[in-house]
Amino acid sequence: MIRQFELVERVQSYDPEADEDALNRAYVYGLKKHGSQLRASGDPYFSHPVEVAGILAEMKLDTSSIVTGLLHDTIEDTDATRDEIAGMFGEDIARLVDGVTKLSRLEVQSESTKEAENLRKLVLAMSSDIRVLLVKLADRLHNMRTLHHIKEPARRKRIARETMDLYAPLASRIGMERVKRELEELAFAELNPDGRSSVQARLGYLKEKGDEIVPQVEAQLTKTLKDGGLEAQVSGREKTPYSIWRKMQQKNVSFEQLADIMAFRIIVADVAQCYQALGLLHGAFQVLPQRFKDYISVPKPNGYRSLHTGVIGPLGQRIEIQIRTADMQDQADRGVAAHWVYKEGGPSTDAPQYAWLRSLVDILDKAPNAEEFLEHTKLEMFQDQVFCFTPKGKLIALPRGATPIDFAYAVHSQVGDTCVGAKINGRMLPLRTTLSNGDQIEIVTSKAQTPSPTWERFAVTGKAKAAIRRFIRTRQREQYIQLGKSLLDKTFHEEGYEATEKGLDGVKANFKHATTDDLIASVGSGIIGAREVMTAVYPGLKQQRPSARGGADVVPITRARNKAAKASENGRTAAENGQIPIKGLIPGMAVHFARCCHPLPGDRIVGIITTGKGVTLHTIDCATLESFSDSPERWIDVGWDAVGEDAPSYTGRLKVTVANQPGSLSSLSTVIARHEGNISNLRIVNRSMDFFDMVIDVEVADVKHLADITAALRATPAINAVERARN
Ligand code: MN
Repeated sequence: MIRQFELVERVQSYDPEADEDALNRAYVYGLKKHGSQLRASGDPYFSHPVEVAGILAEMKLDTSSIVTGLLHDTIEDTDATRDEIAGMFGEDIARLVDGVTKLSRLEVQSESTKEAENLRKLVLAMSSDIRVLLVKLADRLHNMRTLHHIKEPARRKRIARETMDLYAPLASRIGMERVKRELEELAFAELNPDGRSSVQARLGYLKEKGDEIVPQVEAQLTKTLKDGGLEAQVSGREKTPYSIWRKMQQKNVSFEQLADIMAFRIIVADVAQCYQALGLLHGAFQVLPQRFKDYISVPKPNGYRSLHTGVIGPLGQRIEIQIRTADMQDQADRGVAAHWVYKEGGPSTDAPQYAWLRSLVDILDKAPNAEEFLEHTKLEMFQDQVFCFTPKGKLIALPRGATPIDFAYAVHSQVGDTCVGAKINGRMLPLRTTLSNGDQIEIVTSKAQTPSPTWERFAVTGKAKAAIRRFIRTRQREQYIQLGKSLLDKTFHEEGYEATEKGLDGVKANFKHATTDDLIASVGSGIIGAREVMTAVYPGLKQQRPSARGGADVVPITRARNKAAKASENGRTAAENGQIPIKGLIPGMAVHFARCCHPLPGDRIVGIITTGKGVTLHTIDCATLESFSDSPERWIDVGWDAVGEDAPSYTGRLKVTVANQPGSLSSLSTVIARHEGNISNLRIVNRSMDFFDMVIDVEVADVKHLADITAALRATPAINAVERARN
């Protein structure tokens, strides 16, 4: 175990400004808190945080990171609290320790590797300060170094799997190649000991054989460069069992093919010398095509810079060469952490998806105080996503703003379709609740449930929206067909016919529909009038007059019969044959009912005289009357006579707002029919996700009849609002 003064000295060796007092206090505090706790190895528990602090010191990190390393397990494993740490070490340290604690709690089992990428994103999203991630990586590295002390094989495997899938790639992503390699090798040893030992045995054999070759090639390369006037450090590159294993998996090449390729690294003083060395080597040896890569002008996304090339070496074998400066080497090993000391000439990553790293590096380069910068920087990557868990720990990635509906559909469309509620972290919460990172969601389902149109308002994923729309379209069509059938039956029956499948089938093409169901649905949705269909089936009916309660398409028939009506915008002219009992009219005068307000017997009415058209009747409260306020001479007082037994029916127009949900349209038609009203026309004027606004013409006896129907409709749950249509 590193002793207190040793740790302080190590930190001071690269950071003379280090806060010695804070380091000492953290060391003592951690030692006291962990007390007599022991590790699986039998060592005092505190040896672990101290080693983690030591790893962070190797990375040459700032005082806050080292202190966080010393304290990183205190909240989770001792009676220490965030508040206590904040009181003793300041809010920043408390925030960092808390961040590491939260990350540690996230260690869920990722059974499937395809979830690993999501987990990596989650960890990054939760590492609001990059030092949280660095401490977590150091923690994991030490745990992997001591993994063999854990007795349960299953637990060792799980930790190794997680390291391989989650932490090694994360280390790579922030450019820490050395940490990544060590994590991979340690995990590989646990996950595939047989694979590893066979690779090692093979490597050992080749190494024996190649022992003389490597120094010879090194010497030859050094000489070539020196002859060109370049001082360089040339070394044969170490190959690790896992890197060979993975290449064999990925590239389908034999062990010999891989291991025979020798790799060398050349370190020179500056960037210009990198290209100079490249030129010298390409001049002296035959270049292998496709091997040259310039990661100096175009660095890798994680900031890695180097020149790579391949040549036929001095002894006739293929060799790989990496050329770079010492800074680049340090950057390759330590990644983001390298910037604490190497502020100048950092990598300039150009890939847009790594803007976060670019800005990080930029600010590190420009900030007078890198430490201060890091305290205030948040990793912004993946901020557009949230990551949630199923009760079984499966990770689901969703766009920010997603709700349990999105989650349910992401799990399975069946789960979405039958979703009735959601437990978020064990609490029942509304389906419109916005999900947060790390939430555990349990979707409550019921076979009786079907998607509600209102869900679409708070679903954000395309999958959920599409599924809801698909369901509603199907359900809506069913309703339209139902309504269309009843409209057709009624219309046909009135003329003594049957709306047969055969009859409809014969005319479906007239209406440009492929199936009779499509035709019926169009009638139900108000696109095609039921009477239009009937006259198509029975063309002879066209010239006939509908019965008094004939409903249907009044307008075309009126047009055919009455010239005055045709000229008028006011359709109905039943008054001419004396059917309308109205007082106060000059005999013989043409009478129309205004289509803006559809007056009914019982309504208080006013007549407006229009030259050449006769009298138009409006309800007393009709807004259209305002436009006649300047010409009082055109107004005539009218009223209804007593309504007799054989009174004709009148068209009342209603504006109805119906919830866009299963069954609402059929309950609408049922209610109207039960109150002996006939729907003569139905038109959907506005269709939103949640509601339909419809204009319905209902044949009624008088205003009271319409008022009864209105009241009945208002009492129907699926019907949101009912009004007499005014304009
Ligand atoms: Mn730990």
